[in-house]
Amino acid sequence: MTSPRPRSPLHERHSAVLPDWLSLYYERPLEITHGEGRHVWDADGNRYLDFFGGILTTMTAHALPEVTKAVSEQAGRIIHSSTLYLNRPMVELAERIAALSGIPDARVFFTTSGTEANDTALLLATAYRSSNQVLAMRNSYHGRSFSTVSVTGNRGWSPTGYSPLQTTYVHGAVRDRGPFAALDDAAFTAACVADLKDLLGHTRTPAALIAEPVQGVGGFTMPPDGLYAAFREVLAERGVLWISDEVQTGWGRTGDHFWGWQAHADNGPPDIVTFAKGIGNGMSVGGVIARAEIMNCIDTNSISTFGGSPVTMAAGLANLSYVLEHDLQGNARRVGGLLLERLRATAARVDAVRAVRGRGLMAGVELVRPGTGEASPERAAAVIEAARERGLLIGKGGGHDTSVLRIAPPLTLTVAEAEEGAEIMDRALRAL
Ligand code: PMP
Repeated sequence: MTSPRPRSPLHERHSAVLPDWLSLYYERPLEITHGEGRHVWDADGNRYLDFFGGILTTMTAHALPEVTKAVSEQAGRIIHSSTLYLNRPMVELAERIAALSGIPDARVFFTTSGTEANDTALLLATAYRSSNQVLAMRNSYHGRSFSTVSVTGNRGWSPTGYSPLQTTYVHGAVRDRGPFAALDDAAFTAACVADLKDLLGHTRTPAALIAEPVQGVGGFTMPPDGLYAAFREVLAERGVLWISDEVQTGWGRTGDHFWGWQAHADNGPPDIVTFAKGIGNGMSVGGVIARAEIMNCIDTNSISTFGGSPVTMAAGLANLSYVLEHDLQGNARRVGGLLLERLRATAARVDAVRAVRGRGLMAGVELVRPGTGEASPERAAAVIEAARERGLLIGKGGGHDTSVLRIAPPLTLTVAEAEEGAEIMDRALRAL
C-alpha cells in the first residue's frame, strides 16, 4: 500500500486558514507562478500547456503584452472605484459592448463577476415583470450567491443542497439519458417546448428564463440549435424575459458565433445578456446588457463599487480590441474544429469515453465505466492527473458526478499547440 504524499508547506498553510470548500485541483495542488501565451509555470519550474485558461478567465493569452501595458498604464494613473465620477474607459467599453450586443437601445452595467452579473439580471427581470418567479434549465450553473444558486439546476454544484429561492427547472439541455434519450433534435425540441407550455400553464407568470447557450460547468452540454428560438416564442407570448448567460460562451469562443445565443435564436437577441470571466483576460470584468426600458426599470444609485473600475475596464478594452483585430472567433472555429476532430479520433479507441462534444474552443469528454455506461468521476480524476503529469492542464465538470473533462484553452491557441494537447489527451486517456 502506498501512503499519501506529504503536503507542501503552502498547501498546509492554505488548509489551516482557508475554507475547506475552497477546493484545489490535483493530489499535489499546483502553485502557478507565471504564464506566457498558452503556457503557465509552477513553483518547481514545470511548464504546462494551459487547456483551461484558469477556468476560461485567461481568454486570450497569458501575459498578453497589450493587456499588461493597458493595465499598468491605467494603474499608474489611478486605481479607483467606478462610481460617483465620470469614468472614460468604462464609457468606452460600454459603447463597444452595446454595439456588439445586437440588443436594440442597449445599456451596459459592469460588475466584478458572473455571479454579480446574473444577480443583477435577476434583479432587473423580477423588478421589470413584478414577479419573483424564475425559470432555469436543468443541469445549469449561474453562480453560488443566494440568488444565483437558486437558479443553478445542477444540484451537485449547490453549496446548500437546496434552492434558497423558488425556481422551476426546465428541460432542454440534458438529453442523452432518461425519457428524452431516443429523440432526434426536432422531436426533442418539440417535447421541451410542450413541457415549457405545460409548466407555464401551471406557474404564476414568471419574470424570466435564465439559460446558458452551452452549459459550461454542467459538462459542455448543449441544447439542439434553435431550442431557444422556439422557447422564446412561447415566453414572449406571456411577456416572460429571456436571459442568456454568456459567461462561458461570449466573445467568439464557440467559433461560429460571437455570442452563444446566436446558434439558438435567429429570431432576435435575448432580452438580457450577462457576461464575465474572459473579457478581462483575468481581470474581474463582468456585466449585464439589456434594453434601456429593462435596465432603467429600477431606481437606485449604483449596485457595485468596483464593477467597471478603471483598471479592469482598461484590461477589457485592450483585450476586446485584440480579440476583434486578430479574429479570435475564427481561430476558435478553425483550431477548435481540429481539436474536436482529434479528440473524437481518440474517443473512438477508448471504451471509457462515452461522448466528445463541443463547439469552437469548448470541448467536453464524458467518461463512463465501460460496459455499464455509468458516469465515471474516478476516471475523470485519473485523466486529469495523468494529463498534468504530461504537462497539460484541463478542467472537469458535469452533472452530479463530475465525469466530464473540460477543455477551454485561450483563444489564441495555435494549431501546433492543439496537436500537442490532443496528443497528451490521447496518451492520458489510453493510459486508463
Ligand atoms: N455563469 C456561468 C455560465 C459560469 O460558468 C459561471 C462561473 N463558472 C458563473 C456564471 C459565475 O461566475 P463567477 O464565478 O465569475 O461569479
